Amino acid sequence: MKRRVLIIGGVAAGASAATKARRTDETAEIVMFERGDYVSFANCGLPYYVAREIVERENLLVVTPEQFRIRHEIDVRLAHEVTRINPREKTIEVRDLQAGTSRTERYDSLVLTPGASAIIPPIPMVNASNVFTMRTIPDMDAVHEYIERMHPQDATVVGAGYIGVEMVEALHRRGLQVTLVEKLNQVLPPLDEDMAFMVADHIRAEGVDLHLGDGVRSFRGNDNRVGEVELESGAVIRADIVIMSIGVRPDTKLARDAGLQLGVSGAIAVDSRMQTSDPHIWAAGDAVESVHRVTGKPCWVALAGPASKQGRVAGANAVGGTMEAPPVLGTSIVRFNEIVAAVTGLNERSARTAGYDVESSVIHANQHAGYYPWAELLTIKTVYERQTGRLLGAQVIGNEGVDKRIDVFATALTANMRVADLTELDLAYSPPFGSARDPVNIAGFVSQNQLSDAVSPISSTDLHALLGQSPEVQLVDVRTPAEFREKHIRGARLIPVDELRKRLGEIDKTRPVVVYCRVGLRGYLASRILAQNGYSVRNLSGGIRIWRFETEADISDAEAKSKYGNDVSRA
Ligand code: FAD
Repeated sequence: MKRRVLIIGGVAAGASAATKARRTDETAEIVMFERGDYVSFANCGLPYYVAREIVERENLLVVTPEQFRIRHEIDVRLAHEVTRINPREKTIEVRDLQAGTSRTERYDSLVLTPGASAIIPPIPMVNASNVFTMRTIPDMDAVHEYIERMHPQDATVVGAGYIGVEMVEALHRRGLQVTLVEKLNQVLPPLDEDMAFMVADHIRAEGVDLHLGDGVRSFRGNDNRVGEVELESGAVIRADIVIMSIGVRPDTKLARDAGLQLGVSGAIAVDSRMQTSDPHIWAAGDAVESVHRVTGKPCWVALAGPASKQGRVAGANAVGGTMEAPPVLGTSIVRFNEIVAAVTGLNERSARTAGYDVESSVIHANQHAGYYPWAELLTIKTVYERQTGRLLGAQVIGNEGVDKRIDVFATALTANMRVADLTELDLAYSPPFGSARDPVNIAGFVSQNQLSDAVSPISSTDLHALLGQSPEVQLVDVRTPAEFREKHIRGARLIPVDELRKRLGEIDKTRPVVVYCRVGLRGYLASRILAQNGYSVRNLSGGIRIWRFETEADISDAEAKSKYGNDVSRA
């Protein structure tokens, strides 16, 4: 008898499962149930349609139901919601949303891929006609149509995760005045705060009104339409359209009701073969718990790459295969106008939480040879284990070339490399594409130097704290007088690196020293000079480029002159 495989959900994981099952078993009967009106659509592309970068709506429909039927002999049932799984009987209850009828369907194998659902907080008027989420094609159509019809001028996006930032960019490109509200003190939570502020600065510089550390208290308006957003801080913002993007949670209702085991993260527990606690039910995608490649521990990620790979494995195994799904790294990337931010593996915060003895380095390096036009700095933060030098994660911010570097780091993490191995990577170079020493190599060199005690780094976060606690620290700016005049950290003494050997007497050997420059290189040279002369010295990792001036007042030129006279170089 033919094996009957039923699939619940028809997007990234479900569509992958269905087609892989077909490629593995030509004889199986495969039916895919999707409660929405579309299967296999590119939800990652939705913000770019709103932005009008993607203009043809059909381009978002990757595989149509007809293509599933003709090419793969997969029966797609749209507008069919699975309401119950009966594991003992090996049946599901399905409701035909158009006909309003329900029926029972038998399975030999069931693949569960219901994805995640948007978190909607219980705020008054959160269901008003101009408050939207962005998960599906109908969500996208609704936002696009509203913009075309109502010509809103002011938009508020709530939540500064990936989708929030992408929607800010989309609405900004459509000419709306955008406000972004985020409860945390930073945008893009997968990044460390000392990297995320660079993105926040750029978002503000582009004219977006960014409110960090603030939440929505209420929406106000008339006729079921929001006109103002009141924040917890008391600020009131005009809004003609609101996008809610505060996060998603795994859709586990069917699994829970069926008695399937959930994992520690609250998502559906599966083994490496994507099998649930029921031997006839597989699950994949945003609804399931994954294993983190670095920690080896359970985690939850909601990303398209893992969903698609896991779906493939679940589909193969549902028809008798023996595939295993890879662990995840959470590699992800996002753009806001001219800035691109990407992350893979653990950030410093999560590495510490996971119990690692963590060290990190921050470097800035051109994405291609500096002498070739349009060279731009990339900022790379490398997170690694102090004892072993094992790479734990990386974050890259810049514009061109961010994607290439984060993928090298993801590959290095997959190969379980140490930071020393990064120095050995033989990467492609010609002037328009890279440098003889690629930024990834440089990240390796700097981390290796830190490990070998050639330099003792201090992160900008730790230096902020240290300056607040420890008045005996001597802060030395080793850049040029002109750079110092433009902007410097409060309390710093200027001693350019080229004058340092002659001016050692100006630094007290009995007190700790922190040096800094623009990006970290001159600070490294200065710290080598000082260390070899018996000073206890640390170098600000990533230099002044990564210093948050909005939280630690810098000294203006005028202020510096009044303090030190015109000869600022002697300050
Ligand atoms: P989904 O894609 O959510 O599909 C689940 C499907 O199951 C849904 O269509 C749902 O209607 C259906 N379903 C649920 N319950 C039932 C039921 N009871 N009966 C029938 N059908 C049901 N990831 C990236 O890696 N990079 C990106 O750039 C990126 N951008 C994104 C942008 C947006 C706007 C969104 C929304 C997501 C983005 N993602 C991105 C995340 C990525 O799209 C998801 O990780 C991926 O789609 C998850 O696939 P999935 O199949 O598990 O779930």
